[in-house]
Parts: sequence; structure tokens; C-alpha cells
Amino acid sequence: MISAKGIAAFSAKEPLGPWSFQRRSPKDHDVVIDIQFCGICHSDIHTVRSEWGDIQYPLVPGHEIAGVVRQVGPKVTKYKVGDHVGVGCFVDSCRECAHCKQELENYCLKGMNATYNSVEKDGKTPTQGGYSDVIVVDENYVLRIPKNLPLDRAAPLLCAGITVYSPLMHWKAGPGKRVGVMGLGGLGHMAVKIARALGAEVTVLSHSDKKKADALKMGAHQFVSTHDHSVFQELAGTFDLIINTVSSADLNMGDYFGLLKLDATLVSVGAPDKPLTVSAFPLILQRRNFAGSLIGSIRETQEMLDFCAKHDITPEIEVVSPKDVNTAYERVVKSDVRYRFVIDMKKL
Ligand code: NAP
Ligand code: ZN
Repeated sequence: MISAKGIAAFSAKEPLGPWSFQRRSPKDHDVVIDIQFCGICHSDIHTVRSEWGDIQYPLVPGHEIAGVVRQVGPKVTKYKVGDHVGVGCFVDSCRECAHCKQELENYCLKGMNATYNSVEKDGKTPTQGGYSDVIVVDENYVLRIPKNLPLDRAAPLLCAGITVYSPLMHWKAGPGKRVGVMGLGGLGHMAVKIARALGAEVTVLSHSDKKKADALKMGAHQFVSTHDHSVFQELAGTFDLIINTVSSADLNMGDYFGLLKLDATLVSVGAPDKPLTVSAFPLILQRRNFAGSLIGSIRETQEMLDFCAKHDITPEIEVVSPKDVNTAYERVVKSDVRYRFVIDMKKL
């Protein structure tokens, strides 16, 4: 076994704190990764606070992992010691179902093995995430981080980046398409940068006017504060695609559906603890679509990393020490993150 240090949650209400645990010894196809940086995703907070349901504690969160290969198993062919690599939201999947065979492991019909709050392939060992110094992952679920992406800025791409890249590609954001981004947090700001690089016309829909200058600097063509309700009349029927990254269900979804053109789609990637509700009418009236999307596959995540490297797209980050994780959590919950916290795991 490999001894690991981590930052863990011990209950839904207590602050996170240090914890020591064991990683498996590398098997034939495993890669041992020295974790250098790990992003803080709002999903980490939803999970450790049991907002999505009961979980098993202690739990080490973190699925935006960037690091350097320390060791490889005897049959590993894709990576070697010293490579820059990443790990996202899952570390394995059944590899046999129709979706895994189509390289859509994120939609594995048996449920993928999530990076934390799940079990390893043995069906029993709890998985533990990236707020730690080392992780052991099968080479087929490891991503290559292009050399021109610094590891601290690459980390958030492994969840925030891919979660918005996937629906932007699936619903064909690009030249001539008007894309709205609800919420300018970790996911939202990556949606702005990626949609802009794809050639779309991008509007940020934010719940205050505080982030306007930042949004325009990131490449948004337009910024609207939804605090001023008149924007919903002014922009009615003008969007081809809206990506909802908001972490709260405290939204009048009907207002947002009214912004879509005929046949256009609003994709929710935000995963609040309470249901999103909408009357049938805004959907019926212009044959609008309400969709969801879950992270992305391994192939698509690699494609996104290469796309970001090519277009020089990286997140806006604030690097914090492991001891500051609880303060960072409070700031994320208050929408006071600019725009992703990344933990320097070397300081553990
Ligand atoms: P985040 O950094 O906290 O950003 C969320 C943003 O939502 C905030 O910055 C804020 O933007 C807006 N917001 C928050 N509370 C609001 C409220 N009461 N009313 C209106 N707007 C509000 O979170 P994140 O890490 O980007 O994650 C966003 C959501 O996506 C979370 O629910 C997370 O669990 C989920 N997620 C889903 C997937 C997936 O695969 N589908 C993957 C990762 C994360 P403004 O200040 O601009 O309004
Ligand atoms: Zn995430």
C-alpha cells in the first residue's frame, strides 16, 4: 500500500481537516501520481455537506487533479515517470456497457467509479479524491496535460473545463450562435472563455452587477445582471443555447426559457440540492428544450485539454494552502470566488 496524506470531511457540519489513509499499490496498468494542485469544485461542497444525500465519512474530496507521474505499473504504455497528468471526476467505469464501448464512460450504464464518494473496481474500497498528496489511477482514466499549461491552471479544466466544453460542443456553439451563460463562477467563467474561442457570441447572465468588468475581460460580448428584471423582456427569444451553471435552484427558470429562440436549448449543468421547476408554457410556446449534461468522456476531456492548450485558455485562479480550504468553501458559497480556488497540495 502507499501512505497518503489528505484533507478530509468527517461529517456534514464539521470543518475539513488533515487525515492519513492508504492508496492501493500500483497494479499492472496503474499510474502513481504526485498531486501538485487540486481545484475546489462546488460539487465538493454539495457532497461533503450531504446536500446531495448521505455519504460515507471520512471523505477526501477533489476531482480537479493535476500532478506528475511518480511511478508506473509494469504494463503501462501511455505514461512515464515525470509526465504532467490530470485526473477528473471518475477513475474507472465498467468498460463493457454500450456507453463505455462508445467512449462515453461518463454515462456508464453501471455507474462510473467516481474519484471520491464511490468505490474502486473491487466494488468495496472507498475512492478518495485529490485533496491529497498522491493518487493511483488506471492509465486509461488519466489525462495528459499539455506542457504549455501550468499545472495550477490546468487543474480546474479537469471538471469545470470539461463540464462546459462538452455541452458547448454537443449543442454546436460556434460562429453565428448566441450563447448565454448563467452564473459566472468556476464553470461559468470557463464556459465564457471556451464559447468565445469557439466563435460564438457570448452573454453572461449574472445575479449581481459585480462581475461585469471581469466577464468582459474574459471575452464575453455582453453582460447582464438578472437583478434588473427588465433584461428578460429585452432579451426574450434571442439565444440559441443557454448553459446554466448556477449552483442554486433559487431561480425563476421560466424567465430563462423565455430567452431562448424557437427550438433552442437550455442545458443545466448546475446541480443544486433542490429541484429546478418550470411551468410547461415557456417550453411549449416556442418548442424549447430543457437538457442536462454530465462532465465529459476521457476522449473528450483530452480533446478539451488540447483545445485549451492550443487556444491558450486557462481559468482565473486563486491558489490557497490546504489549511485555508474551509475559508475557501465559505467564499465559494457566497459567490465570492474569482473564479476558481486551487489548493497547492505540495504544502500539505
Ligand atoms: P461556483 O463557482 O460556486 O459558481 C456558481 C455560480 O452560480 C456563482 O458564482 C453565481 O454566479 C451563481 N449563483 C450562486 N448562487 C446563486 C443564487 N442564489 N442565485 C443566482 N445565481 C447564483 O460553482 P461551480 O463550481 O461553477 O459549480 C456550479 C454548479 O455546477 C454546482 O451545482 C456544481 O455541483 C455543478 N457541477 C455540475 C457538473 C456536471 O457534470 N453537471 C460538474 C461540475 C459541477 P453569479 O454571481 O455570476 O450569479
Ligand atoms: Zn466538479
